[in-house]
Amino acid sequence: MARAVQTCVHCGFCLPTCPTYQVLGDEMDSPRGRIVLMKQVLEGTRAPDEAMPHLDACLGCLACETACPSGVAYRDLISPFRAWSESRRSRDLVPRLRRWGMLRLLPFPERFGLAAKLGMLARPFRKLMPKAVQPMMDLLPSSLPKSEPLREVYEARGPRRARVALLAGCAQQVLAPEINAATIRVLQNQGVEVLVPRMQSCCGALAWHVGDEAQAKSCARNNVDAFPDDVDAILTNAAGCGSALHEYPLILSDDPAAKRFASKVKDVAQFLYDLGFQQPATARREITVAMQDACHLLHGQRVQSAPRRLLGSIPGVTVRDIADAELCCGSAGTYNIDQPAIAAELGRRKAENIEATKADVCVTGNIGCLMQLRAYVKTMPVKHTMVLVDELSD
Ligand code: SF4
Ligand code: SF4
Repeated sequence: MARAVQTCVHCGFCLPTCPTYQVLGDEMDSPRGRIVLMKQVLEGTRAPDEAMPHLDACLGCLACETACPSGVAYRDLISPFRAWSESRRSRDLVPRLRRWGMLRLLPFPERFGLAAKLGMLARPFRKLMPKAVQPMMDLLPSSLPKSEPLREVYEARGPRRARVALLAGCAQQVLAPEINAATIRVLQNQGVEVLVPRMQSCCGALAWHVGDEAQAKSCARNNVDAFPDDVDAILTNAAGCGSALHEYPLILSDDPAAKRFASKVKDVAQFLYDLGFQQPATARREITVAMQDACHLLHGQRVQSAPRRLLGSIPGVTVRDIADAELCCGSAGTYNIDQPAIAAELGRRKAENIEATKADVCVTGNIGCLMQLRAYVKTMPVKHTMVLVDELSD
């Protein structure tokens, strides 16, 4: 942490790309201000409780890393700092209960599925619920799709070009099981054998993001042990999970197995592009696609051109970029539950920019962005990139 703090030269180049600075306009809610706050807390010159409201408001979107000319590794700061400060800060009872509940529900698909059903049943009584749980209820869809249990092995169709292991995700399996189904179909059709390791767990992103180091370590350790070594890549179709998997060496203190694991992690769009995506010969339909970059792809994994090139290579597809693409949509893990007002403002701004493209469909590579955008974008459907690739290349 100390090295990352010292690298900051306070130039301020990161300020225009910080979504919370854009919305709140306060230096303490900018990357530069937060770095100063963390430094002061670490040096003991500021009380953690004074700094935490500004650090809690950070989305962890990492736009500041992309913008920083000095190479400040903000990701090495914010999550380790949250973990370090967890036992040194105070929390009111309701936020504490909400955090406890989220950490025990979201990473477990069965529990989360049950809680989501109860939340949907309770929606007519939303106004009687504590304010702290209302944003969670607002994000639930009107119905849950039928679950699609996954097999352990999916054979490649045609000659095998690669063999991969897929992280299935947690909330995604409950809210949008069609994403894994489409991902697996696309991979199989491209000659890729897909393993879905049975013993895998949540990636730990949620716990890491909110400073629960013990739970993040336990998820990381479990996955490092559960995924096989003899695969060409470990794939994710959720940007937030992919970013967390890349951080396993940080979470597990440079453990060599974690480093090996992280070196194999790839986003599925990047993998397919690198493999040499075999596009269909003819267009199924003419379609204009607005490409929404998930922060944890764009900033977290520096994946930007692969999804565009992948979709753009399909006959009939025109890809359009969105204004202010580097700004977060306000989803950011559980941010739209923890900080609903800022998340809503960012959701509205992002939706305006998406709707201005006048595209037929918007795509994104992250379940969190997908749910957030579906709540705000009114003029076009929002789909996962792999779902659209599957529809257009089947
Ligand atoms: S751009 Fe980098 S060096 Fe400049 S203030 Fe932001 S974090 Fe610090
Ligand atoms: S991670 Fe995002 S919200 Fe947090 S300081 Fe950086 S740019 Fe701002």
